[in-house]
Amino acid sequence: MPFVVGLTGGIASGKTTVANLFNQLYNIDIVDADIVAREVVEPNSAGLNAIIDKFGRSILRNDGTLDRAKLREIIFAHPDEKEWLNQLLHPMIRAKMLDDLDKTRSEYALLVIPLMAENGLQSLADTVIVVDVEEETQLRRTIDRDNVDHKQAKAILASQATREQRLAIADHVIKNDTENQKLLPQITELHQKFLEICREDL
Ligand code: ATP
Repeated sequence: MPFVVGLTGGIASGKTTVANLFNQLYNIDIVDADIVAREVVEPNSAGLNAIIDKFGRSILRNDGTLDRAKLREIIFAHPDEKEWLNQLLHPMIRAKMLDDLDKTRSEYALLVIPLMAENGLQSLADTVIVVDVEEETQLRRTIDRDNVDHKQAKAILASQATREQRLAIADHVIKNDTENQKLLPQITELHQKFLEICREDL
């Protein structure tokens, strides 16, 4: 297993932007929980087959892929079904993330988990970076990117961990309220730190 650097942050804080910079600047391999969560319900996967057994084939779109909007509606209305789905998929996602991390080849690996604080997943990482922004920045970027109004953006933020809860699991904080340029020195400094730790471990 490589040295695992966890990366988290609230909606539109800049996780993807930061992860891509680690990859572009330093060739660091990324495992992204959102991508893994989609992979475990791909056609013919054990995950999708279990969902079909439970909800029937009407949970599929015409092309045989999972109808996420329909599934979201079901679990929104039925907390029991949400619990069932989490119990099915969370272990699968966790196992696949570990498997993917094991296959990485860079000096350390980045594990991007948006809901790390909410789901207590910081234990999967050796050290944790939180991308931190002011709530106003988060709202503005969510509204601009996702085409939602202020009220909807506020509701999404309210459903996530608070800034304080997220910062409580941070070993390192990247500030991302200003322009992208300001990210580069922060990323370079952390990269050097992680290399030192990896080399000490050898
Ligand atoms: P999510 O988890 O919600 O998908 P995220 O945390 O991965 O989001 P990004 O997708 O990296 O966040 O960034 C959110 C939006 O904010 C994007 O449109 C991105 O281009 C923009 N953004 C990120 N960082 C900056 C910055 N420093 N300056 C201006 N815009 C930024």
